[in-house]
Amino acid sequence: RATRTFHSLKPPLHLPPPNATISAPSYILSLRRNSPWSDSVTALIDSATGRHLSYAEFIHRSETLASNLASLFALSKYDTALILSPNLLHVPILHFALLSLGVVVSPTNPLATRSELTRIIRLSKPTIAFATSAVVNKLPDEFRHGTVLIDSPEFESLITASRPGAKPERVEVSQSDVAAILYSSGTTGKVKGVMLTHRNLTAMAGAYDVFRAQREKPAVFLYTMPFFHVFGFTLSLRAVVLLETVVLMERFGLRRAVEAIERFRVTHIAGVPSMLVAMIKDDVTAAYDLSSLECVACGGAPLGKDTAAAFKSKFPKVLVLQGYGLTESTAGVARTSNPEETSRCSTTGKLMPGVEAKIVNPHTGQPMFPAEQGELWLRGPSIMKGYVGDPEATSATLVDGWLKTGDLCYFDHDGFLYVLDRFKDLIKYKGYQVAPAELEELLHSHLEINDAAVIPYPDEEAGQVPMAFVVRKPQSSLHEAEIIDFVAKQVAPYKKIRRVIFVDSIPKNAAGKILRKDLNTIALERSISRL
Ligand code: AMP
Repeated sequence: RATRTFHSLKPPLHLPPPNATISAPSYILSLRRNSPWSDSVTALIDSATGRHLSYAEFIHRSETLASNLASLFALSKYDTALILSPNLLHVPILHFALLSLGVVVSPTNPLATRSELTRIIRLSKPTIAFATSAVVNKLPDEFRHGTVLIDSPEFESLITASRPGAKPERVEVSQSDVAAILYSSGTTGKVKGVMLTHRNLTAMAGAYDVFRAQREKPAVFLYTMPFFHVFGFTLSLRAVVLLETVVLMERFGLRRAVEAIERFRVTHIAGVPSMLVAMIKDDVTAAYDLSSLECVACGGAPLGKDTAAAFKSKFPKVLVLQGYGLTESTAGVARTSNPEETSRCSTTGKLMPGVEAKIVNPHTGQPMFPAEQGELWLRGPSIMKGYVGDPEATSATLVDGWLKTGDLCYFDHDGFLYVLDRFKDLIKYKGYQVAPAELEELLHSHLEINDAAVIPYPDEEAGQVPMAFVVRKPQSSLHEAEIIDFVAKQVAPYKKIRRVIFVDSIPKNAAGKILRKDLNTIALERSISRL
């Protein structure tokens, strides 16, 4: 019989020692020297304005910004910076500058509501905030006045105006220092702050160095996902490793995306499966020259077999790569990386360099063999340090260094990973996380609701949408639209409840835990009876 611990089949990672004093940005900058190109390559292009800058400018600006933030705002190691912004040109520069100062970066969704932000602030305890003028008023009073506006002329000069005689800041950052706090609900409950260390980001960057492809020209990557999600956050750092040109969009829109592909001769797109669905369904794609497109890197949610096939038949020249990862694993832990691998249906690929995995029987705790299904556990240098201020959730999720993913998976005999389903209480709407527990708490706060539960409901365009099961109080005539509206007012748009089913009771086990599988069955029966 074969092994029960799966190791990466890729070349090994060569990282600095785990206790070394080197920040992730310094390591990333050192890796870029493995590139055949120079710093004159374009680093960033804003697709809306066409504004762009080279890697030489990117590096100089992030150094200037770091030096100005250290001297004018007294920012230093162990401060935490909350960042509330859509994908603007300045954001990757800001991330790089803060990381090099040892400041913990905490980017979050600018569409978050005030109460969502309050919860996030309680978790990460930021000492400074960076926001755009459109969203700054959502921040609590203590931040509103001290917030640095990313889209202001003052910020522009923080980025461009070096003080006379200023030298690049030299801060001693160790690999074990926390670099970023991103947000995830993990396997259960409400949002938590995922602490990623400089080590984690170093490992992520090192893994992409291993995947460095031989190309004639630098890749031009269109980013359709936000920098505050682990997928966008890590890709913007990886771009520096590989000296890729990043074309960024403030918000994804299909027409804007295809315009950008034509205008900037985009070679690669990074996005979630719903982006592929949009490209398949909408004929706006035919009105543009997309001949430069070579590859789509898809991740963040399951990519259906039919979607992949339909994309292939509409865009036969474009390779669709799939990646799998979590916020807690600093994004990609498995990916397909060539046409041979993508021709295997439905796999999310082989383990990334440095990653180990087990498939664990959720009932017995026993590790399983290839082709047997169970919960995926992961170990390696890209696995998070833990959830900030939440030792209980941390010890429930990290067991002897293994991250319990909450995903039902198996490996085949060739080391390819297949993600089948989710054990955990998580809804993925267009790749965004929606925590059922958060919506359930809001529903429970409604005076006419006795009990409620929320589950993912399959949706062709979004992947999944939140569906609520609601037990009304006796005599209540509350209807679906009122419930949808009640929740929509209190959450970011992607978390909206989009379907409601009224029931007499919520099925629970003896311990009071919601039996979500039973709710799936009810949802299925109701949708069949509607046909
Ligand atoms: P996040 O932390 O937002 O990146 O969400 C991580 C979760 O998204 C994983 O635990 C999976 O449930 C899901 N996920 C990410 N990538 C894939 C993929 N390629 N296939 C299936 N599910 C995925």
